Amino acid sequence: MAQPHSHVFLGDRLVPADQATVGVASSAVLYGLSVYTVFPVLVEGGSRHAFRLADHFRRLEESCKIIGIDRFAQEWDHSRFEVGVRELVAANAPADDVFVRVSVHVVESIPGTRVRGCAIQVSMFVYDAVPIVPQDGMRLKSSPWRRIPDNAIPSRAKVNGAYVNSVLAKQDAIDSGYDDCVFLDGSGHVCELSAANIFLVRGGTLITPDVSCDILDGINRRTVLTLAHEEGIPVRERTVDLTELYIADEVFVTGTSAGAAPVFEIDGRTVGAGIVGPVTTALRKRHAAALRGDTEHGWVTPLS
Ligand code: PMP
Repeated sequence: MAQPHSHVFLGDRLVPADQATVGVASSAVLYGLSVYTVFPVLVEGGSRHAFRLADHFRRLEESCKIIGIDRFAQEWDHSRFEVGVRELVAANAPADDVFVRVSVHVVESIPGTRVRGCAIQVSMFVYDAVPIVPQDGMRLKSSPWRRIPDNAIPSRAKVNGAYVNSVLAKQDAIDSGYDDCVFLDGSGHVCELSAANIFLVRGGTLITPDVSCDILDGINRRTVLTLAHEEGIPVRERTVDLTELYIADEVFVTGTSAGAAPVFEIDGRTVGAGIVGPVTTALRKRHAAALRGDTEHGWVTPLS
């Protein structure tokens, strides 16, 4: 299991990791009422940079807005966020790539099931960048657990409590001998994995569920779509049937903690030839270069 590195940002300052706690009577603990994002910080020859920092901040703001955590927009803006990230990364001075998890916790004690006007606390910590799925060909199982629909707990908002849905589906997949799940919606259409977006390739076209398919609007998903357009690969964002995955030429997944990783098997069926296909290979390469800051998109923020 990953551990937070020694210095944790909590509220408005750095504290030792073992003192970075949130109260047992807070809504964050009682109801899972926190929203979060995770972004990578890459270390290259002694210098460090964050990937798509502004996009992560915007998604955090949007998650707060959807859930009604109004104090975040009143108390935080991008520059305060970036200062916090810089302090955190400078204090921990990671020697290798790390992930940074930023959470907005509703820390009001026992307010009942409401949110507007409730006190918040922001936490940020750094941990080793260990992928959550195999990078050399994973096996997926369609889940008996359905993805939470937008009109119950929106997947678009990265709200901690909703991750119980992901825990149920991922644990079921692991218990059944697979690496991760494929979430379906109530009609059987493909959504995403427990914490990654999914893509398939058929006849050279890249296909992925669109953003209204009860998915997280993943930042690596957006990245890969942009890179695919630039590579001249035809792209379609639309609803996807489970059986389309079974007959796809290639399937891969994207996410901060998942990388851009190939899928070799779904529900006991081999995907394509059971190898990393040409489109996956090309996009993985472009994605890795984008993370390193080797593209002209302005996606990286130098930190220290
Ligand atoms: N879907 C879910 C449910 C996730 O938790 C994640 C990880 N944040 C993703 C997709 C991938 O999103 P991103 O590319 O922004 O990391």
